[in-house]
Amino acid sequence: MLNDAWDVVVVGAGPAGATMAALLARRGRSVALIDAAHFPRQKVCGEYLSAAAWKLLETLDLDVPRSLAMPLRSLVLSASTGRNVEVAYAPDVARQPAALGRDVFDLRLVEAAQRAGATLLCGVRLRAVLRSGRRAVGVEVVDVADPSSGRELRAPLIVAADGRRSRVVQETGSFQLAHSEIVGFKRHVPVADFAAYENRIAMHAAPGCYIGVCPVAPGVVNLCGTMPKRAMQQAHGRIGAALQSLLPRATPLAPLLADSTVPLAAWHSMPEVAQQRSRHEMPGVLYIGDAMGTIEPLTGQGMTMALAGAQLAASLLHEADATTADVELQARYEGEWRRQFAGSIAAAAWFGRILRRPRLLQGLLATSRLLPGFTNALVQRAHRRTLTVET
Ligand SMILES: Cc1cc2nc3c(=O)[nH]c(=O)nc-3n(C[C@H](O)[C@H](O)[C@H](O)COP(=O)(O)OP(=O)(O)OC[C@H]3O[C@@H](n4cnc5c(N)ncnc54)[C@H](O)[C@@H]3O)c2cc1C
Repeated sequence: MLNDAWDVVVVGAGPAGATMAALLARRGRSVALIDAAHFPRQKVCGEYLSAAAWKLLETLDLDVPRSLAMPLRSLVLSASTGRNVEVAYAPDVARQPAALGRDVFDLRLVEAAQRAGATLLCGVRLRAVLRSGRRAVGVEVVDVADPSSGRELRAPLIVAADGRRSRVVQETGSFQLAHSEIVGFKRHVPVADFAAYENRIAMHAAPGCYIGVCPVAPGVVNLCGTMPKRAMQQAHGRIGAALQSLLPRATPLAPLLADSTVPLAAWHSMPEVAQQRSRHEMPGVLYIGDAMGTIEPLTGQGMTMALAGAQLAASLLHEADATTADVELQARYEGEWRRQFAGSIAAAAWFGRILRRPRLLQGLLATSRLLPGFTNALVQRAHRRTLTVET
């Protein structure tokens, strides 16, 4: 078995892991960044990046310019009755979100990590966390293409950035996992009438389900959301058919749900979208991104939290001049993390409950007809609570 030593091993090269790898490598640490996937790859995600995310990308100098992304100037909330309301984002571009496909976004971030000096190992899956007594001291990984292979990467610090249901967290800590009967899905669809989708993100609600539609590249829109597991099972796993069963017959989304043989338009799914919050229980590890905690996906805050969480973890390590994460540092990090994100997570859960109940949303949209500006004010308020993080 190959055996090598690093200052840090980062497990998972999504936005959290790649950002953390870049920040630590810039400080002269030897960093191994491992991921089971090869980049570029698709990922179930609405691909909406908040204004705070764009600010962080610039502050952290991660070389993902806004010019790569599709501008979003308004949010359309749409109930299954066909009633909808459009809320404009701030006119100032720096305070607007923008959308970028995860194939492009995640690739740019791992490239930034590599330029900073991190070593990227793709197609490599975590098999186990290595321990010495009660401390994590490395990881054992396996080549995805060769399950009989094995390699040990030793490091005084293991960063868990392996997303929801993190394997690293399962082995070294604990998490609260809310029960969920919800699955996630996503598809990129090339569209001829692109102008109809440009500059806005539309959120369509149906019973137990929401679907976000936004432009992610010229001529391409992303259709992404969550729906009840039951609907997926009843449609024998056919995502388009399951969505058609939940939406009204005359849904404006019909053209985006139709079968397609274009490889880009393949469906991607995530078997369970549950809210998760982790706790550190072993020195030598730090959890970031979804591995540390998730936020209701439909608010489009997860990637912002992934970037901001990596920044927080890297700066605490730097301030403490620490080569590892002892119990005190982990406690400080968890406290800061809660302070920064707990309010947004709670507000996002509230917004999610409204969108998954079309009757509530219909009521909201009806009120907005009688009281123009009401929904606008409410959405702006929710937006301020859920889509802002410190940068
Ligand atoms: C339906 C849905 C829609 C969403 N829409 C948005 C949105 O519009 N905007 C937004 O900001 N957020 C959105 N999110 C949330 C966002 O996708 C996540 O918050 C974000 O991806 C978290 O980044 P991460 O780096 O922590 O984890 P991930 O992006 O999940 O990356 C984890 C990486 O770890 C790798 N990995 C996992 N296990 C292993 C292993 N054992 N060994 C090696 N590698 C491993 C994976 O291959 C992956 O590359 C959405 C989520 C869902 C479910």
